[in-house]
Amino acid sequence: MNKYVLKYSTDEVKKPALAEAILETGVMVNILLADVEYSKGMMVVAVLGDDKKQKKLTDYLRKHSVEVEKLESTILKDDDRCIDCCACYGVCPTKAITIKDWKMQLDKDECIRCKACIEVCPVRALSLQEG
Ligand code: SF4
Ligand code: SF4
Repeated sequence: MNKYVLKYSTDEVKKPALAEAILETGVMVNILLADVEYSKGMMVVAVLGDDKKQKKLTDYLRKHSVEVEKLESTILKDDDRCIDCCACYGVCPTKAITIKDWKMQLDKDECIRCKACIEVCPVRALSLQEG
């Protein structure tokens, strides 16, 4: 399983490209985030299956003019800097950031690399590591 960002242009956003890709390839997809407007759209999806299956689905989407970008980066927390202020918790669109016993917890598997937490952290404890 890997995560991908899908970007739809003005023409493509009106077509059910992802639904068709799933039907045509038989590859399962979990939509993690969708931001779709009349004229453009962006989704973050988890594509299930091995590399061959992921390639099959992403090739299909690219052939149908959807921009596909694999999420390679990893969110990192510097525990020495973090002051557990929980500002990041309020902006995370997934369940990647939770609070337990007044401590911020980070689940990298749930992260969609939106960078919202990085922007609000007052002590720069969060960063994205590429690769
Ligand atoms: S980058 Fe930060 S705010 Fe965005 S999903 Fe990952 S942990 Fe949540
Ligand atoms: S915003 Fe920064 S300092 Fe505050 S809990 Fe999140 S990582 Fe820690």
